[in-house]
Amino acid sequence: MVIVGAGRAGWQLAEGLRAQDVTLPITLVSACNADVYDKPLLSVAMVRQLAPEQLVKERGTDAARRLNVRLLAATHAIHIDSATRSLRTTRGVLRYDALVLAHGAEVALPPELPAALCWRVNHLGAYQRLRARLGEAAACGAKDVAKDVLIVGAGLIGSELANDLALGGHRVTLIDTQQEPLARWSAQQAGAQLLEAWQSLPLRFVGGVSVASVKKQGERLVLSTRCGKQLEADHIIVATGLQTPSRLARSAALAWDKGIAVDPQTLCTSDAHIHALGDCITVQGQASRFIEPIARQVKTLVANLCGQGVVPYAQRAAVVRVKTSSLPLTLH
Ligand SMILES: Cc1cc2nc3c(=O)[nH]c(=O)nc-3n(C[C@H](O)[C@H](O)[C@H](O)COP(=O)(O)OP(=O)(O)OC[C@H]3O[C@@H](n4cnc5c(N)ncnc54)[C@H](O)[C@@H]3O)c2cc1C
Repeated sequence: MVIVGAGRAGWQLAEGLRAQDVTLPITLVSACNADVYDKPLLSVAMVRQLAPEQLVKERGTDAARRLNVRLLAATHAIHIDSATRSLRTTRGVLRYDALVLAHGAEVALPPELPAALCWRVNHLGAYQRLRARLGEAAACGAKDVAKDVLIVGAGLIGSELANDLALGGHRVTLIDTQQEPLARWSAQQAGAQLLEAWQSLPLRFVGGVSVASVKKQGERLVLSTRCGKQLEADHIIVATGLQTPSRLARSAALAWDKGIAVDPQTLCTSDAHIHALGDCITVQGQASRFIEPIARQVKTLVANLCGQGVVPYAQRAAVVRVKTSSLPLTLH
């Protein structure tokens, strides 16, 4: 059994499989260092006064030992040869009987935003590097170390990060093409309520703008909007939504529908020997990039892979709990 990805989905599947079968050989391949952590904490860590290193719940190497899993950390899966059932990685080729893709999604970076100048907060490693650059002292009231942070995209992640960094003492500008944050939930007045709650924070929302370019000017960054505004910052964070990288799926010619298309009965892809779960999958073209579905997907997969019959996975509309601590919201 080869699993690609050591996020919530990959580790939880390894736990589930090991609980059913103590002898099954499991190899886990992960681009990151595979440390176990709760990703939702990345957007509330400042207000909860969690230092970046405190976010690690268990070292990847310790989890691998505990579960008797062969871990290949800092290893990228790059190509699947489905005819020979082999996975090419940056550390050699692995043969598999069953392959499970749990490689998550990545921030969809608009072309106007150069990757080298923008942070993307979708993994612990990137978040730890960002926190190191932001410094820790702002929350203690040392105004001279507060940074100007510009966040592009006022959806869930952008709004939560803006809230957290502002409460951490940084000066935050949050921008969006829409006129208010959380515009998907405008019928529930989510954005209006948030803007009200943010009034006392060093947090400015600029709506109705789209990015034209980002340039470095000395130590600072200058973001220009299409309507001619210029916004300066020390750091730019992009939170413009997620997309599943298609390279691995394409290499095996897997059916694709805005993500890796899986059968909800089994979470099997269009290749009988390849399954998938977590942020990288879609069911009937719908992704559900939340924590809650992963445990149910693991049940479906464990039943299927351990020959215990069919335990179908049901895609449900998520109840979204927005962790903007100045005004937590529950949205439907
Ligand atoms: C800031 C933030 C806050 C969030 N808050 C919430 C919340 O409050 N509630 C909620 O339900 N959800 C929340 N989410 C979403 C939730 O965290 C994700 O849905 C979930 O963690 C996805 O897990 P995953 O294992 O599918 O993907 P990931 O956690 O992205 O893991 C993917 C793994 O695959 C590895 N990988 C990627 N490509 C390759 C490759 N080519 N080869 C090998 N390995 C590879 C990566 O290194 C990583 O280990 C939040 C997300 C963020 C970013």
